[in-house]
Amino acid sequence: MSDPRIGIDIGGSNLRAAVVDATGSISRSVKRAVGGREPEAILADLASMLEELAPPAGSPMGVGFPALLRVPEGIVVNAPNLGWQSVPLRALLEARFGRRVRLVNDLDAITAGEAAMGAARGARHVVCVFVGTGVGMGALVDGRLLEGLHGLATELGHTKIDRSASARLCGCGERGCLEAYVSGRHLPDIVLGCVAAGASTSLIDGPADVARLDAGRIEAAALAKDGVALEVWATVARTLGTAIGNLVTLFNPEVVVLGGGVLEAAPGLRARVAADLRACAARPHLEDLRVVDSVLGDDAGLIGAAMLAS
Ligand SMILES: [Zn+2]
Repeated sequence: MSDPRIGIDIGGSNLRAAVVDATGSISRSVKRAVGGREPEAILADLASMLEELAPPAGSPMGVGFPALLRVPEGIVVNAPNLGWQSVPLRALLEARFGRRVRLVNDLDAITAGEAAMGAARGARHVVCVFVGTGVGMGALVDGRLLEGLHGLATELGHTKIDRSASARLCGCGERGCLEAYVSGRHLPDIVLGCVAAGASTSLIDGPADVARLDAGRIEAAALAKDGVALEVWATVARTLGTAIGNLVTLFNPEVVVLGGGVLEAAPGLRARVAADLRACAARPHLEDLRVVDSVLGDDAGLIGAAMLAS
């Protein structure tokens, strides 16, 4: 195997690790449910996973992490999924495993993975947007990941779309973020907002239904012409289409990759987003633009994190 590296994906529910070669091929991988959420518990789980993987000595490690990171310092600034704030994760990993570690935002890892082996293979100008529990984005500009001064670039989910006092509260603690208007975590609130305005819907029969308001159920209700579901999807598609269409105008990508749990569970919504972003982007930017689905699934982040390790 040429130039082996270790790819790690630390998710909110699962840990994954793989040995990956320089071309992006996974040779072996392991997956484990997150046990304890403290940094020490995650490190202990990763240690036993690496024992199982037995990667070559000295191979570097790339770690994708779903959080706001200060990449140059390797610090997790804020990870709401795990409840971490100001954790020096790169230093902890390097001390524990004695390897070079590169810490990257999970969507940056996914973008690198899809560009190396997936939906954007070979492309040098890529915008990748995932809508799941939250909203994440990565961008390749002339083949290089756009990270910004502190590694905080391309935080699309936390761009503000409402600056009023009544703007929705985001999981990051601020108000008016895009994520609070389109992501899976906020879909129940968005549906309840429509219902409070007086519309009736098959989506909510009782209080127990509210917690089950996921993208798959809203998609099914929209297909059955439920008025609230149609209104929610029209609003979400327009909001996401506007955000991503403006990215096309800003970045002039050759490929836009769409993925994440919400868009995967709702093909109808995904098609509307793809159409709306084309309607929003400036006309000249549509020439040679491809809008594609992510294809690597969970492997994208593992492959990308490994590819970014050095
Ligand atoms: Zn936010």
